[in-house]
Amino acid sequence: MENNFKLQEYLAEGAEIIVKDAIKASLKNPKESLFLVKFAKHTRKASKIRQEYEKKGQNIPIFLIASIASSCNLHCTGCYSRANDACNDDEPSNQLSDNEWEDIFAQAKELGISFIVLAGGEPMIREDVIIKASQFKEILFPIFTNGTLLNNDYLKLFEENRNLVPIVSIESDERITDLRRGEGVYNTILNSMELMKEITLSLDLHLHLQKEICQGCFQGNIPIS
Ligand code: SF4
Repeated sequence: MENNFKLQEYLAEGAEIIVKDAIKASLKNPKESLFLVKFAKHTRKASKIRQEYEKKGQNIPIFLIASIASSCNLHCTGCYSRANDACNDDEPSNQLSDNEWEDIFAQAKELGISFIVLAGGEPMIREDVIIKASQFKEILFPIFTNGTLLNNDYLKLFEENRNLVPIVSIESDERITDLRRGEGVYNTILNSMELMKEITLSLDLHLHLQKEICQGCFQGNIPIS
């Protein structure tokens, strides 16, 4: 049976929906809206590049995950990265340099990749790589971070480069977050979120769903807003 499914058309439509929704959500934030309108143009161009590769029998993904750091400042219970030894407390060795990552980002751009998730360990340990990423305005970089390493340099970097989108992990309330991530982490994350709000940075929250959280919600102990 003939397979008429066009993967790249499907991915292009998906990207368009994501970007349109993001533009709608950013209407009160002119700097961000402007960036997203430009980014929408880049995603259309990237879709065409991927479609050209598809004609040659090569399917290029729309997004990549780049694990840029092999260490982390926290020791969360149940960390998959530490469990797989992808993250540990040893002095980092065999990590790619910022220039090597820059080369990978450039190749991704040429291939028509529009999204690169920066993950770790804790990706914000690699400020050198994140600075390189900021220069690729054709690519949106969600940064999956524990939210504890924000400082003035990062605030400035995020304010000036809207293609960097921090996605902060938190486990609902203070008790559960600190139980998993360490004492005081909840308040540090909240402080980071406040600072990011001050520069009207769109902030994504990555809420970890755990059995305990779900039970708390169902029992009405944890407000959902
Ligand atoms: S912040 Fe993430 S990488 Fe670091 S220990 Fe916690 S779960 Fe693991």
